[in-house]
Amino acid sequence: MKMNLKLSTQNFFGTSETELKEIFCKWNVETYRVNQVFTWVYHYNCRDFSEMSNISKSLRSKLAENFHFSLPKIQKRTHSKDGSIKYLMELNDGAIVESVWMPSDSRKTLCLSTQVGCRLNCSFCLTASLGLKRNLTAGEIIGQHIAINEELEEKDQITNVVFMGMGEPLDNYVPVVDALRIMTSPEAMKVSTRKVTVSTSGLVNKIKDFQEEGLHINLAISLNASDNKTRDILMPINKKYPIEELIDCLKKYPLKPQRRHTIEYVLLEGINDSDEDAQRVVKWLQGIPCKINLIPFNFFDSTVYRPPSENRVLEFQSYLMKRNFSAFIRKNRATDILGACGQLAKQA
Ligand code: SF4
Repeated sequence: MKMNLKLSTQNFFGTSETELKEIFCKWNVETYRVNQVFTWVYHYNCRDFSEMSNISKSLRSKLAENFHFSLPKIQKRTHSKDGSIKYLMELNDGAIVESVWMPSDSRKTLCLSTQVGCRLNCSFCLTASLGLKRNLTAGEIIGQHIAINEELEEKDQITNVVFMGMGEPLDNYVPVVDALRIMTSPEAMKVSTRKVTVSTSGLVNKIKDFQEEGLHINLAISLNASDNKTRDILMPINKKYPIEELIDCLKKYPLKPQRRHTIEYVLLEGINDSDEDAQRVVKWLQGIPCKINLIPFNFFDSTVYRPPSENRVLEFQSYLMKRNFSAFIRKNRATDILGACGQLAKQA
């Protein structure tokens, strides 16, 4: 299929159904045509409006005059021993983000970036060292998925998506929500909402907005500490939204039956991994439908933090499980290529 690159026009990728319907209304075109165009683009991978044979000639030319198709360019692939691949993706202005494809027997998960860098300055995170360069557009967010899927074999196609790469997704709210709508729309990318997870450092105001969207996307909340003093140091956003506010917001968050939140907890030796920490975590999370992912810290050169011993990690997990919490030790993926959680900063 031909790629039409007219950058003065709008990128079709990332244009939401609602926006396209509004444009069609202005053009006096029936809005059901939007579904036909989406089907061509997302189901048949068509990148040339002139090939859309069930669309009128005049609409095809109007679309071609106003839209182009642009995807992030894969600039580099780094293969991990565990089978994961870290992709360096170049955006139109030359900015670079990273996406990591992680295969397992049952799923192929893509970890996407939503910002170039991040401004939240979590002290254990390598991405934070970049600061925030800019937000990604919805097209650049879904573009990572489309571009990577295009080069993967059928058996390796992406089944699950986690918004856990560079950036705080809810700090780039509108493009992220637009991207999620396109990704999960049956007319577009058809990814099941059950298979998409958005992570957040705990932007309480944005979590409240997010629940109003009615998207029913899984949320992963990074708790990472059991008291405000420690969390203030690890995640400065805690000074604005302390643990009690975050927990209160999660208790009020309506979840569909059988769904639960994911609580992420990066374990740092001597900082947040004691029995007392585990006790406080249990206290905070009482009454919240959730599973807990324990993530032993991924060491990188410039950090003062260390992962706890394996034994400490197991004891922490066991404390939570004895109190009836589902607690998993998350296997770190792509650690050898700086592709693991909190390590994305275009270094390899
Ligand atoms: S952990 Fe997430 S929110 Fe915190 S600085 Fe890193 S990318 Fe941003």
